[in-house]
Amino acid sequence: MGDGRIWIGLDIGGTKTEALVVDAQMGVLSRVRASTDTADPECLLAGSIQLIHRALAQANGAVSQVGGIGIGIPGLVERETGVVRLAVNLNLTAYPLGAALTAALGIPCAVENDARIATMGVYRWLNEQQPVRHVAYVSIGTGIAAGVVLDGRLYRGAHGMAGEIGHVMVEADGQLCSCGARGCLETIVAGPAIARQYAEAAGLRAPVTAETVFQAYQADDAVAQQVMRRVSQALSRALQWLIMTYDVEKVVLGGGVTAAGAAFLDPVLAELAQMRAQSALAQEMLAAHKFVVLPTDFNAGTWGAVALAQQG
Ligand SMILES: [Zn+2]
Repeated sequence: MGDGRIWIGLDIGGTKTEALVVDAQMGVLSRVRASTDTADPECLLAGSIQLIHRALAQANGAVSQVGGIGIGIPGLVERETGVVRLAVNLNLTAYPLGAALTAALGIPCAVENDARIATMGVYRWLNEQQPVRHVAYVSIGTGIAAGVVLDGRLYRGAHGMAGEIGHVMVEADGQLCSCGARGCLETIVAGPAIARQYAEAAGLRAPVTAETVFQAYQADDAVAQQVMRRVSQALSRALQWLIMTYDVEKVVLGGGVTAAGAAFLDPVLAELAQMRAQSALAQEMLAAHKFVVLPTDFNAGTWGAVALAQQG
């Protein structure tokens, strides 16, 4: 890729869209963001095109230099055709986003689900430090998004859902999840779920945030410790399933909730240590070095989108 071409990664989120432009050596030329216009598909398309032009202008680049654009989008995506089957938060149904962008810009555009694409970004980030072939990524924020790279390739499964562990059911008759089912991992471990469990257990009327729970945890609040024990038990079991299902070398944790640092991670690591202490198999499979936390300033979505662009 030392041919002077430049590459664009676009991470379209429900509220913000970010564009990253890199040169052939993966050096950052520009990074811009704007709020996502979700009023209708035409607004989303126009906003994306505008942001791409802004990113190119800031990078002193021309459309003719761009080798390709990779786009990550929160929804069900047909990777081969670039059609967004369903993206509820973006108001898109059966929309040919890839073809529409390609027609407007004259540049090859590839579209993929945002969790899959972030996993590609994480895979590349890990490989800059050491060679790895099998990786799972779990992003914990408002929801839980996850994906796996197996043998160096993003593993999509039949519907692009492989590794999407946020919606595995962990509690019979548990809380209602955004997916319509009850007791998904997301209803215990995601940020709003942590806040809800604390408010319930502490008998609070006013809503709290996950941040409040982490602060209470660090101040040795007994209710916060009880909630975090439940959260870390559910998460560490899910991490064990990921490792036992895919036998990955690394499990990377990212997303807004991991930014809480020790208050979130310590109980999870303690739970994993306890699982190791109980079993020789766990000692091997859940070894501490397999768990990695993504730096909060690393945008896995845009880097993964660049990787997708280069794959074509
Ligand atoms: Zn669910």
